[in-house]
Amino acid sequence: MEKKSQQTRLVHNDYVAPAGFGAFPVPIHHASTVLFANVAAMRSRNWQDKSAYTYGLHGTPTTFTLEARLAAIENGNYCLLAPSGLAAIAMVHMALLKSGDDVLIPDNIYNPNREFANWMARDYGVQVRYYDPLVGAGMAKLLQDNTRLVWTEAPGSVSMEVPDIPAICAAAHARGIPVALDNTWAAGIAFAAFDHGVDIVMQALTKYQSGGSDVLMGAVITQDEALHRRIEDAHMRLGLGVSADDTYLVLRGLPTLKLRFDAHDAGARTVAAWLAQRPEIARVLHPAFADCPGHETWQRDFTGAGGLFSVLFDEAYSEAQTDRFIDSLRLFKIGFSWGGANSLCVPYRIQQMRRDWPGRGQLVRFNVGLEDPQDLIADIAQALARLSD
Ligand SMILES: *Cc1c(COP(=O)(O)O)cnc(C)c1O
Repeated sequence: MEKKSQQTRLVHNDYVAPAGFGAFPVPIHHASTVLFANVAAMRSRNWQDKSAYTYGLHGTPTTFTLEARLAAIENGNYCLLAPSGLAAIAMVHMALLKSGDDVLIPDNIYNPNREFANWMARDYGVQVRYYDPLVGAGMAKLLQDNTRLVWTEAPGSVSMEVPDIPAICAAAHARGIPVALDNTWAAGIAFAAFDHGVDIVMQALTKYQSGGSDVLMGAVITQDEALHRRIEDAHMRLGLGVSADDTYLVLRGLPTLKLRFDAHDAGARTVAAWLAQRPEIARVLHPAFADCPGHETWQRDFTGAGGLFSVLFDEAYSEAQTDRFIDSLRLFKIGFSWGGANSLCVPYRIQQMRRDWPGRGQLVRFNVGLEDPQDLIADIAQALARLSD
């Protein structure tokens, strides 16, 4: 072949790196176009077949590896990645619900999930009903002929009630209805979702799996192939791709996931136990503490707790006072999300979020990071002293 022009040589390069390179990290493959060896290979390729590649959106060695590793952590068979936890939630809704269908959602669900469901109710003709997260076997009475999906979250990530997942799943399965779980709090570490009956596990990888407060990503994990195929169709039609670099960052965090989770867990229990004996605090809403609704269920079904919990201040303290408490914290920063190394603290207007919330005390949520718990306690102590300034 004649010598190509410089411009063509800029695009086509015959160099191929030698094979046989070995290292622990998973290679970061950036690709929209994926190459086929010939037209026959292109024509016969099926985008759902994970033994080969079709297009960047349908997966690369990097994303396939993260999917397989997340499925293994949860003891599932299939995993789909989405660009945020919320995108993973939306994908489950859209895969399983259509106009005229009914969906049941716990009243303590992650609020953007509620917003999404309300949007489906308002504009897409889906019937959305909210249930008491402690309903347990009472779920059976709520199910209708047109109920197509039951959402759960264990525990609800602000008010922290721990639902009886096996009882809810038993009721739903008796009517052939799948149960989805937002399993972000337990990270696939502290709750074996499929063993307790869950059909669809959703994870916000943004939290513990990433661990760096620097990535947004979500996942949906299943055991059942037919269910996976339905969600996979929605995943493809919605065009939910994830970045190779972000995928790498999540893969990089996985080997230390349990070590970090256990450290968050130990730190949070130390801080929560200290808060529990303070006169300013009316209740500690941490599943490992007897004050938390569903504590016995947590003891029965969970093996750990992570770093996230809430407290209710005594009703004597106004919102202005608890806001001053939070503003006075130095190690705890103010911000959403959690699961990273840094401790966070956020107030929630729980009375406005929940239909039948008892009591008027202010709710404050803590994410205990990886700092020394004694330094965190000292920080809280100096901020509590500012409550009544
Ligand atoms: C953060 C979070 C999500 C959503 O994850 P994003 O990646 O922030 O969209 C969903 N559920 C729970 C319980 C969460 O904490």
